[in-house]
Order: sequence, then structure tokens, then C-alpha cells
Amino acid sequence: MAMENASSNELAVQLVDVNKWYGEFHVLKNINLNVTPGERIVICGPSGSGKSTMIRCINRLEEHQKGKIIVNGIELTEDLKRIDEVRREVGMCFQHFNLFPHLTVLENCTLAPIWVRKMPKSEAVKIAMHYLERVKIPEQADKYPGQLSGGQQQRVAIARSLCMNPKIMLFDEPTSALDPEMIKEVLDVMVELAEEGMTMLCVTHEMGFAKLVANRVIFMDAGQVVEENEPHEFFDNPQNDRTKLFLSQIL
Ligand code: ADP
Ligand code: MG
Repeated sequence: MAMENASSNELAVQLVDVNKWYGEFHVLKNINLNVTPGERIVICGPSGSGKSTMIRCINRLEEHQKGKIIVNGIELTEDLKRIDEVRREVGMCFQHFNLFPHLTVLENCTLAPIWVRKMPKSEAVKIAMHYLERVKIPEQADKYPGQLSGGQQQRVAIARSLCMNPKIMLFDEPTSALDPEMIKEVLDVMVELAEEGMTMLCVTHEMGFAKLVANRVIFMDAGQVVEENEPHEFFDNPQNDRTKLFLSQIL
């Protein structure tokens, strides 16, 4: 693959023989992954296979114990300054939104730009409103998260991440806690982001989304990357028995 020839400073994300244990439990086993800027990677696999752990290692919400993780040319080590540098570049959306319930939608979006980026409030508000318009809920700006539907809350979470102007977005099952009628409104926002060239790593089982935007689908099982392919091949012609079994259960 051409990507493997890219030098590491051209890569958005690089994992080299990454291993992680929770106590005795070997959760990530020799994970290798190269993501070039602008690439969209979909990660799928059974529950407990290590998808969230891998995603969380990329912005150091979890630590790996062996191997290398390099994000935008910065290797993640114990150096807190570097962890901060990486987190500045990487946005993350979770299954359960993780909005601050006691802050309004607008305040959720301006909090980090004001306090982390030291942005003047008026500018932070302007940027927040721009992204709330992009996710099509500017009229909800003064409401609290609890007053919004799940789909609206997830769109706020995406807008909040975008306010920090990330180079890379990580998504961990952003639609799996949503009612079916709200899934599309969140996926539409993600598709737009992809079309604008955002580098994205998405844990999701949304096959339509994967086929539409992913450059590659990665299948994980028991802490390993078992299969990797472009989306149509991956879904229509899986090679590995574990992939076949998994797809037969979700499709
Ligand atoms: P996935 O996202 O694919 O469902 P996870 O990365 O959440 O998988 O979890 C992989 C495995 O690691 C599971 O067996 C899970 O129980 C275990 N695990 C996850 N987080 C922790 C933790 N903080 N401490 C111990 N074990 C954990
Ligand atoms: Mg998970």
C-alpha cells in the first residue's frame, strides 16, 4: 500500500506495534495503523474488541505500554506538554455526548476556546454560532443539553469539537445511543465533515456511512486488527472468518 511508504511526518496518525494491558488483560495487541491527512477510517468489530481503547489512546485518554503513537508528528509519551499539544489538534465525540449539563449549548461550545485557547468571548461566540449553524441548530444556542433530543445533543458535541479547530476528529460510536430517526441527522453532519477533507477515525457500524465516506474499514477482534480493506470489498467480500461472522450478525 502506498500509505506505508509515506514518511512519518506526513502522517496524521501513526500507530506502530501498539500494545496495551489493563492489569493482566492484553487489550491491544501489536496494532499498526497509518492514517494520512484527509483520510477517513472506519473501525468496527465486536463489543470488547478494543475499539474504544484504541481511539482513546490516540488522544491519551488511555496510555499504551508498548509501541509508538505519533499524532501530527508528535509522539505521545508521558510528557504532559506533548499530550496537551496533541489534544489541541484532536477533537473527540463519544457515544454519550458528554456535554456539560449545567451550561447552555452556546456555553458548552465557547468554554474551551475561551479558557484553553484564551480567545476573547465575542470571538468564541461568533465561532460557536458558525458551527451551530453548520450542524443546523443555531436556534438551540440558549437551551440546556437536557432540553434537546439525543440527535441534537450529539450535533452540539460535534460543533463543540469543531470550535477548537481540530485537525483530526475521533468518533466513538456517535450514533449508537440514538433513536433510529436521529441517526441520519448526525451522520449527515459527519458526511459533510468528511467531504470538507477532515481526517476522521470513526468507530461505527453504520455501513452506509462507511461505504459513502471511508477510505478504509478496519475490523478489530480480541485486540487485533484482523482485516482491513476499502469499504465495498470489506462489506461485500470479507476474507476473514471472524469478519464474516461479525457481518452476518450486524447486517
Ligand atoms: P470496544 O470499544 O471494542 O467495545 P473496549 O476498548 O471498550 O472495547 O474494551 C476492550 C476490553 O477492555 C473489554 O474487555 C473491556 O471490558 C476492557 N476494558 C475497557 N476499559 C477498561 C478499563 N478501564 N479497565 C479494565 N478493563 C477495561
Ligand atoms: Mg467501545
